[in-house]
Parts: sequence; C-alpha cells; structure tokens
Amino acid sequence: MGVWDAIKVALGFGGAAGGEGGDRNAMYLYVRCTRCKDVVRVRVNLANEPAQEFAEGGDTVIGYTLNKTIVDSKCFRPIPLTIRFDGRRREQGREIEGGEFVTREEYEATVAARTRGGGAGSGESGSGGSETSP
Ligand SMILES: [Zn+2]
Repeated sequence: MGVWDAIKVALGFGGAAGGEGGDRNAMYLYVRCTRCKDVVRVRVNLANEPAQEFAEGGDTVIGYTLNKTIVDSKCFRPIPLTIRFDGRRREQGREIEGGEFVTREEYEATVAARTRGGGAGSGESGSGGSETSP
C-alpha cells in the first residue's frame, strides 16, 4: 500500500538522499502516540542498532531486528516498536504498540500546528480537541 512507500521515502529508503544528518546509516522514525497524539522523531543507526539474527545452528546472518522504545514528551508513555530486516538490511515489517508510524510530512505538520498554537485557516478547525499545552 502507498502509505508504506511514503514512509520509506520519508525515512530515506530507496536511495534518495535524505538530507537529514547526512550519514547513510541513519534512519528516522516518526511516531504518533495514540493516547496524547504527540509526535516523536527518533534517529536509528542501522549500522549498529539492529540486532543480528542467525540461521539455526550456524552463524550466517539471516536478518536483523530492531527493538526500540520511544517515549513521547507529552504523556511520557513508552511506545515499544519492532522493525525486522532481511540479511541485506531491507525492511521486512514493523510493529508498534500504543502508537502509529506517520510520515515525515505528518510529523512536521503536527509540530508546525503545535508551534503555531492556533492553526489559523489551515482548513482543520473545530475538531473539538481541547489544547491545554502552553
Ligand atoms: Zn503520549
């Protein structure tokens, strides 16, 4: 589905130069907490953060698993996530509890809306959400 492609593009997969940080082993994850709707950006170093997985009874690396727990800055609830890669570090799937993966665009839009504090005229008004943050 297209969402995953968008996420991969946002994370710098597919050979496009990301521009963030500049090192090619860095992957950025954008996560939204399902409880407080806060968004978090996390940098992952693909060179050393994912744990190797070996074939049964051998030492052939068949894949990598990244386990990470993200804590947002609003409700501080831990959001554990798992991403699996094959032996060539290509993503095979991802799981998350208590949050959802969003694209960089969604992350930036949320941060921008929060920073502005008003959301004047951007089309989304009267959603009923009470903003109590300063
Ligand atoms: Zn939260």
